[in-house]
Amino acid sequence: MAKPKVAFYWCASCGGCEEAVIDLAEDILTVVDAVDIVLWPVALDFKRKDIEAMKDGEIAVSFINGAVRTEEQEEMVKLLRKKSGLVIAFGSCAHLGGIPGLANLWNRETIFDYVYKTRPSNNNPEGVYPQIKTKINGCELTLPKFFDTVNTLDQVIDVDYYLPGCAPPPDLIMEAIKAILEGNLPDKGAVLAPEKSLCDTCPRAENKPEKLTMKEIKRVHEIIPDPEKCFLEEGIICLGPATRSGCGERCINANMPCKGCFGSTKEVTDQGAKMLSALASILGLENEEKMTEEEAKKLVDQVKDPVGTFYMYGLPASILKRKQMTT
Ligand code: SF4
Ligand code: SF4
Repeated sequence: MAKPKVAFYWCASCGGCEEAVIDLAEDILTVVDAVDIVLWPVALDFKRKDIEAMKDGEIAVSFINGAVRTEEQEEMVKLLRKKSGLVIAFGSCAHLGGIPGLANLWNRETIFDYVYKTRPSNNNPEGVYPQIKTKINGCELTLPKFFDTVNTLDQVIDVDYYLPGCAPPPDLIMEAIKAILEGNLPDKGAVLAPEKSLCDTCPRAENKPEKLTMKEIKRVHEIIPDPEKCFLEEGIICLGPATRSGCGERCINANMPCKGCFGSTKEVTDQGAKMLSALASILGLENEEKMTEEEAKKLVDQVKDPVGTFYMYGLPASILKRKQMTT
């Protein structure tokens, strides 16, 4: 019997999701044995034309990582959608926009101006910017168009399932692959991870005081956190209350707060807003005294990078989506 065809593709990403597949270790042999990989740019030399030559729906499943930020990525994900039975948004960037999504605080013009003109380390006296078409010695070179806005995968194509995480952990990847091979998948649109919040599974939750009050906000480099205490108790913002579990509490176990790479559980509309609301309910003074406006402002000003704190992985997927530019 013919093996199911599987494609892996990457868009705007760091390559960590490709590493996550390799992190399957010896389990990767089980996967390779069970499927026929037809596209995997990081590891195998298949071309776009090979995919174009396939029948619609011929690929059983495409795992696509990375956000969509260029015209080439948009074309490729649309092509893979057409040729695939299932499309899985693989990792935080495809799922939520991820770290590349923070570029939605700027647009193409402001990014190019900084990268090619005003950055202190630049040496570009002729002011050369990348062009979509360039003529050199009678030949035309092309580059894909760079969009103003970074999109999540499901803002560009229909997505069947989501494998969350930066990067998705090997156990969740293997569970997803088994579910696909056994035809044992949940309803379309599901995130293939538990529906509990990270605080529900965090080993530090049991040490959390019943009444938690955060009197000041610290950054993680300013103290050495007590490995037994909830980060919020120590004044460090941890996105556990607004984040889905399933990562094995990777950051917490490394004594780092959660930054939210798994996104939220399904009842939450906006992860950053949910975290802000959780934080607002615990920020306060000793003895529950009422804060003056000035005291409240002083406390809020201690959040040095609000977007990077509350939307590090999810700006394109959030209600805000991007900064509105006046230029
Ligand atoms: S806020 Fe962070 S450290 Fe505290 S219980 Fe939740 S996940 Fe754990
Ligand atoms: S602790 Fe948070 S940021 Fe770290 S891997 Fe888990 S979900 Fe992602």
